[in-house]
Amino acid sequence: MKYFCHVCEKKFQSKKLLYYCTCGNVLEIVDKELKFEKISMGEGNTPLIFLKDLNIYLKLEYLNPTGSFKDRGSAIEIGYAVSMGFKKVCTASTGNMGVSISAYSSFANLTPIVFLTRTTSEKKIEQLKFFNAKIIKGFNTYKEALEFCEKKHSENKWFLAGDYGLRVEGQKIIAREIISQLGDLPDVVITPIGNGNLFFSLHKGFSEFKESVKIIGVQASGCNPLYKAFSKKSERFEPVKKAMTKASCIACEDPIWGKNVLKLCYEFGYEIHQASDKSMEKSKKFLGGKGIFVELGSASTLSVYLKLRDKLKDKKVVLILTGSGLKE
Ligand SMILES: [Zn+2]
Repeated sequence: MKYFCHVCEKKFQSKKLLYYCTCGNVLEIVDKELKFEKISMGEGNTPLIFLKDLNIYLKLEYLNPTGSFKDRGSAIEIGYAVSMGFKKVCTASTGNMGVSISAYSSFANLTPIVFLTRTTSEKKIEQLKFFNAKIIKGFNTYKEALEFCEKKHSENKWFLAGDYGLRVEGQKIIAREIISQLGDLPDVVITPIGNGNLFFSLHKGFSEFKESVKIIGVQASGCNPLYKAFSKKSERFEPVKKAMTKASCIACEDPIWGKNVLKLCYEFGYEIHQASDKSMEKSKKFLGGKGIFVELGSASTLSVYLKLRDKLKDKKVVLILTGSGLKE
């Protein structure tokens, strides 16, 4: 496969699946066509609905098979793992990733091993157990879980799944779906940022159309390393020590795609904003009042839309609602 590092601009080619560049940054896969086993549980083709009261569109990614957008990438990663003959798959997670990888692994008769943070909700743990995941829990931060998982992967030759290059190839399809559902390009897409993988995927998806769609990413104010860097126009960011937010699905202290996201912001005029837990609670409630039940991190997109409403009110805006409220 061919790879590209957006930070040091190095190109790689390898038969082995590569995750990181020699500079430490995560790698993008740049092959046009990836050939491996197709695994599907019916992910994708989620509805795009119009919320008349606010004149915005909502992309209902929480309607994917396990209740989050993660299923799009899991289909690709697990398909690859099957093709390569892996029997065990490991991933680090605050919840959604673990749940999704576990469902797809079990579907494909592989064994899922999930490294979980302390903040993972009981409902997500219940879902994980139901999918026969081997659970290793108790990590204080996502960063800690991730480092441990990556170490175990190299020691045991387990397939490492998570927010890496392969996942982008599944998630970028969201952009194509939005365009075909709208019959047009949106002006602005607002997405939550955890590891920044979805932000990057949306950019990759829309840039295939060679038209500009502004991407706005949202972090929780209790875990906002990229927001802080963006506010200072810095290309580097300082990881936060410990996430202090109830929005566990976006609580990544040291986002894997952080440097790539910041670079894209400066190059394409994208933005990063933050939302407090209080404002996310309010947005979640508002959406609930419209019959839409999402998790806190997903509601962050509405918080930022409401903050920027004067600027955005004549634009075609799409919010990506990433995860279901039933899991929180
Ligand atoms: Zn590099």
